[in-house]
Amino acid sequence: MMIAYAERFVHENDTETRQDDGVSGLDLQLQGTLDWSAAATASAARDFGGLRSAKPLAVVRPAGPDDVARSVRAALRSPSLTVAARGNGHSINGQAMSDGGLVVDMLAAGAAHFQVGRAGCGAGYAVVAGGALWEDVLEQCLRYGLAPRSYTDYLGLTVGGTLSNAGVSGQAFRHGPQTSNVTELEVVTGQGETVVCSSRDNSELFFAVLGGLGQFGIITKAKICLQPAPDMVRWIRVVYEDFGEFTRDAESLVTRPDGDTFDYIEGFAFVNSDDPVNGWPTVPLGPDQRFDPTRLSPDAGSVLYCLELGLHHRSSDPPSSVDSVVGRLLGRLGFVEGLEFRRDVSYADFLLRVKHAEQHAKATGLWDAPHPWLNLFVSKAGIADFDRTVFKGVLKDGVGGPMLVYPMLRCRWDKRTSVVLPEESGEIFYLVALLRYTLPYPEGPSADRLVAQNHEILRTCDENKIDYKLYLPYYQSQKEWERHFGNQWARFVERKARFDPMAVLSPGQKIFLRSSVMPGKMASDNGTAGL
Ligand SMILES: Cc1cc2nc3c(=O)[nH]c(=O)nc-3n(C[C@H](O)[C@H](O)[C@H](O)COP(=O)(O)OP(=O)(O)OC[C@H]3O[C@@H](n4cnc5c(N)ncnc54)[C@H](O)[C@@H]3O)c2cc1C
Repeated sequence: MMIAYAERFVHENDTETRQDDGVSGLDLQLQGTLDWSAAATASAARDFGGLRSAKPLAVVRPAGPDDVARSVRAALRSPSLTVAARGNGHSINGQAMSDGGLVVDMLAAGAAHFQVGRAGCGAGYAVVAGGALWEDVLEQCLRYGLAPRSYTDYLGLTVGGTLSNAGVSGQAFRHGPQTSNVTELEVVTGQGETVVCSSRDNSELFFAVLGGLGQFGIITKAKICLQPAPDMVRWIRVVYEDFGEFTRDAESLVTRPDGDTFDYIEGFAFVNSDDPVNGWPTVPLGPDQRFDPTRLSPDAGSVLYCLELGLHHRSSDPPSSVDSVVGRLLGRLGFVEGLEFRRDVSYADFLLRVKHAEQHAKATGLWDAPHPWLNLFVSKAGIADFDRTVFKGVLKDGVGGPMLVYPMLRCRWDKRTSVVLPEESGEIFYLVALLRYTLPYPEGPSADRLVAQNHEILRTCDENKIDYKLYLPYYQSQKEWERHFGNQWARFVERKARFDPMAVLSPGQKIFLRSSVMPGKMASDNGTAGL
């Protein structure tokens, strides 16, 4: 059997480089390729976080969904092999890795499918491959004058990767996360079956997979809701000294009806200093704009806040009509006078804004350095305490990158998905994203120190009884996973037993241990949980 052969080969030739000779691919009956070269396995052993490494046995480059199913079925025939779908590997903590197993490089089949339809689902829909990058989906949809409704800030992520988490950005207050903007999925389950599912057909699988951390199936196709694409975005940033005023305005904007608010609403905290990475220079929207600190009151604190807003418009709209809508909406807000920045950009440039930061970070080496990021959902009831103890306390000097904080509405999230939100039932909750870009040690603080600071933040939240959940969670023991899922844990375990009973899928999440006998056995049952 190919798998047995592959295992023996790798143990005996661990350090050797070997290109797929086609014979192994034939054994798996792939139309794509199986690559066990040192370069391929080393690359699949890394991710954006740069904190962990786990080398797979081999990397599958599928030609399409059938190859994904063949890979899962091959793993099922082995007593111990696991399969991790890898999107663009932009996880932080090794979630897309498979130690000694198969990594399925979903990007390889990212262009395998694209189809646009005009009926239903808003202004239409696109059926795309699970391994498609959102930036490519956007580009293709724009050719039809259409665009997805809900995004992430950065579009170099795959459809399957973000749908396995949630996928949030400044449109989520209106449209919900990306998981709320997909109506049908094609999924290869942990039993190697290819199933089409939606809220009507095979609905348990559909909702399990959305936000399911890759635990129940590999998304090979997704049907995504579209909207008519606007031409332009008026991009605005306004500054606040007071957190209460910042959250009051942000909450008011996200709860106003469409047409009476902006189309994109985010926010971030920054340091009240001229620090080029954490302070005033991070706020203006172009080199021709300057942050004038004399506009701040003398008693402004060490941390300031910025609301980031976007208004869609058409290039044919007279500038005066855009000005008048923006003037009316901004007129209600209590930001610091004179600390307001505006810029008109094309819709595509707005959505691809982080790509420019990526290019810069790649040029300076920051992109390849470790990224001990921390993402949380914090309840409205806890966000003021979070500001007091974390932004103004632990992080008063910043994190060496953006500290996002913006509200979302619970009603836009479907409770049936596997996504976990703060327990307090209030309608508003916040995303907090601490996106550290640090120079490699010893030029910057060591990754260990930053990870320790993340632990300190979580301890601070616990001590102050702040109601939060990790977004893009990562835990070290079953007890912590149980606590994370809270009253959704039983449902999560049941779904695992039903759709991936041998726990073949997504081992890098470290929730379940691969089983050859007992469905849904927990990683910690035999003392090997976590890290
Ligand atoms: C620069 C940057 C900016 C980001 N910005 C945002 C943001 O604005 N909003 C936001 O919500 N998130 C953001 N993220 C986080 C991002 O959404 C997650 O890290 C996501 O998992 C990365 O997608 P990926 O395609 O690289 O997935 P990977 O990291 O490759 O995989 C993530 C998990 O999903 C599983 N998986 C991958 N593909 C599939 C599939 N087809 N089917 C089933 N499971 C699959 C993997 O096994 C793994 O468990 C950002 C990350 C980075 C690095």
